[in-house]
Amino acid sequence: MLKVEFRCYQRSFKQPLHTHHGLWEVRPGIILKLSDRHQTSWGEIAPLEAFGSESFDQALQFCQSLRTIDRATIVQIPAHLPACRFGFESAWESFEAHAPVRKLNHSNLLPTGNMALGAWRSLWNQGARTFKWKIGVAPIQQELANFEALVTALPSQAQLRLDANGGLNWNDANLWLQKCDRYGVEFLEQPLLPQQFDAMLQLSQRYQTPIALDESVATLEQLECCYELGWRGIFVVKAAIAGSPSRLRSFCQNPGIDMVWSSVFETAIAQRYIQNYLIPSVSTGKRAIGFGVNHWFNDDLNQLDFTSLWQSL
Ligand SMILES: [Mg+2]
Repeated sequence: MLKVEFRCYQRSFKQPLHTHHGLWEVRPGIILKLSDRHQTSWGEIAPLEAFGSESFDQALQFCQSLRTIDRATIVQIPAHLPACRFGFESAWESFEAHAPVRKLNHSNLLPTGNMALGAWRSLWNQGARTFKWKIGVAPIQQELANFEALVTALPSQAQLRLDANGGLNWNDANLWLQKCDRYGVEFLEQPLLPQQFDAMLQLSQRYQTPIALDESVATLEQLECCYELGWRGIFVVKAAIAGSPSRLRSFCQNPGIDMVWSSVFETAIAQRYIQNYLIPSVSTGKRAIGFGVNHWFNDDLNQLDFTSLWQSL
């Protein structure tokens, strides 16, 4: 039985993140501290309601209902609280075991629109080689012109992945994929809405550029469902909102899983668990992980000294 303490945070983006879902300015979340008389471990709840997880308020209510927790309670956290399940289960696992620090290749998120043109170089100079760029936000002709300018400017060793957040229609998705095939884009993420699964399956068979599902597979139930329905393209996995890490590990053992790990703008606490405990424990290919997002913030929540991170809240 471990004692539960928690503190809330609010992270302001340096500049709002513009996606097809709208403008995102503040990322709220909860840091968990589990302890006994000898030892402490850390966890994080970073819900993303737009992707179907619980809301911040629901997560907060759940934390307020607990003074202590044990393994049996964690296993019973209901499916409608996936970010809570991740937060407590990851904290419990880090309490029991220590993992060595890993160095993984990151994909770095560029600002949307033509601001990407001025932003990639400083990231490149810091060693970034994979970039992600949001589309499906402005009129397509304007976005395609920005895209041509961006791929022309990027060095040939750079890899670019695009994310539409479900914001394209069938015709625009085909236009984009023709361009992607021509320029060798790594993949196109979530071109259509989750309910257009069959159309995305068709797109994945029609072009060379792989399609990645993200909004379609936000929770473990959805991941398992799309796999059952025959999806063999890429799965984007946001572990912090997917639910139980141990169940995610089981899912990864299915044959032929091509996966991209992705951030929900969590702090160093959830990032460290995902990168040092979760990812090394499964084999899901060699794609750069989508955690190159810390340059979007200017706060103390990326620091690896979790005691002082806690004290800063
Ligand atoms: Mg995405």
